[in-house]
Amino acid sequence: MRIFLTTSWLSLFFIFCHTLEAQQVRGYCGTQSSPVADAQLDANIAYLAAHPDVLNTRGITYVPVRFTIVRSASGNGGVNPKSVFRMFCKLNEDYLDQDIQFYMKDDFKYLNNDLANTDPQSSSGGSILKNVKDKTALNIFFVEEIKSSSPGSVLGFFSPENDYLVVRNSEANYESQTTSHEMGHFFSLRHTFYGWECEPWNVNDHGQIVTFTIAPCFSAQVELVNGSNCSTAADKVCDTPPDYNFGFGWPNDCRPFNVDVYDKNNDLIRPSQNNFMSYFFGCTGWHFSQGQKNLIRTDLNSSKRSYLKSTYTPPSTTVSGEVNYQYPINNQEALRNAPIVLQWENVPGATFYIVEYSRRKSFDSNFTVTEMVRTNQVTIPANYFPSGAATGYWRVIPMNEAVTCNVPANGSEQSFTLVNALGTKSIDGLQHFVVKPNVLRSGNSIQVEVSAGKSMDCMVQITDINGRVVYHYGQYKMNLGMNKIVLDEINLSTGIYIVSIKNKSGINSQKLIVL
Ligand SMILES: [Zn+2]
Repeated sequence: MRIFLTTSWLSLFFIFCHTLEAQQVRGYCGTQSSPVADAQLDANIAYLAAHPDVLNTRGITYVPVRFTIVRSASGNGGVNPKSVFRMFCKLNEDYLDQDIQFYMKDDFKYLNNDLANTDPQSSSGGSILKNVKDKTALNIFFVEEIKSSSPGSVLGFFSPENDYLVVRNSEANYESQTTSHEMGHFFSLRHTFYGWECEPWNVNDHGQIVTFTIAPCFSAQVELVNGSNCSTAADKVCDTPPDYNFGFGWPNDCRPFNVDVYDKNNDLIRPSQNNFMSYFFGCTGWHFSQGQKNLIRTDLNSSKRSYLKSTYTPPSTTVSGEVNYQYPINNQEALRNAPIVLQWENVPGATFYIVEYSRRKSFDSNFTVTEMVRTNQVTIPANYFPSGAATGYWRVIPMNEAVTCNVPANGSEQSFTLVNALGTKSIDGLQHFVVKPNVLRSGNSIQVEVSAGKSMDCMVQITDINGRVVYHYGQYKMNLGMNKIVLDEINLSTGIYIVSIKNKSGINSQKLIVL
């Protein structure tokens, strides 16, 4: 019985979700078997045989990756950047022992196109992606859906013809193997069960002793346990044992495959269940075999991949997840109807931050905005928080292009109280506050003189008469006694402004006129 009546091109990688009695197809790999992919694999095998020194690479190879977030034509949807970085963290962990370090090249690219977002394997959808791909990086596109004529969902695929990966948004997480598996295809690897994708082994059709020599799909040879045809059969990798697609329908807890199936020599077959290119699900200890790693290294060093060569080194190999939050914190007041500037201290080694601000302490995604920024502040638009919201929450995750594994620590969220008008309570211990000059022309500087009765941290900013922040100096450490703070180049249009110093005990303001 053929299980799939698909075109014979399609390699199917089904992952099963078990309910009490029924099996439900959840998803599969959509990477297609093709002459281009076959040629890439054969070229790598031949090169490796002739140039074994290709494996002598020393040090870490940095591979630039360009992420494109595909959205609907209206710009709605799109994967959450934070999810992409969780996936990227996992990908780098999975390739760490091969001294391969993927890093994010440039910022996210966005593509708003319905066809690309839902049917990227169609020829029109594929050419849209091909046209926007970054030719100097390994491209990963995140899409909402990957349409297929087969039952179940395609979770991702590598296109040998267009040379990019497409990953379904749902697979952007730390738990899924999808991207590491598809990356294996990118580096020319086949499924370990190659030849059985369209028709997994079953005792009725193939028998307990498999005596035929050609597998059901792609005219692939049936691989034997004794290794006699391992370099030409199935995945053409000799240290991955035969697998006749035994993962198909096997329980998703990766329990040992204990069905006795024999090859034509009467040798018992035991597949490698936790190989990244296998078909099993829910395993631990996922790995590539040494033979697969050799092909990955050969592919990466091949002239076909010269466009990935890079002189990049990460700004830091570690980035602390701890953040020194500045404003607003500890329930400081923030005006609901004015933009709210969130500010924190730069974290050493970080080159960007994932910032989340939310109406919920739980950071429920329905009430949370996630932004990636390259500065140490973010502005929440005025009136983002509805009139019913009393408290806003925010948190920051520091990262750099190669270090994306940080997650927010429990209790690291900051909170602020949303008010319609700021309290007029003066800052405790502030004795004298003058702005010099308080009438100036745009582009000039002013000096703020403050006399403090004790040292304290304050925020200094200028707002217009509508409460909008127009100049943000940031945090200032006030010392006991007289403090002089210079605000340079006040480029403001003619009007009346308010210079404010505030901290959690209160706020002091002075008028400023720009001529
Ligand atoms: Zn696959």
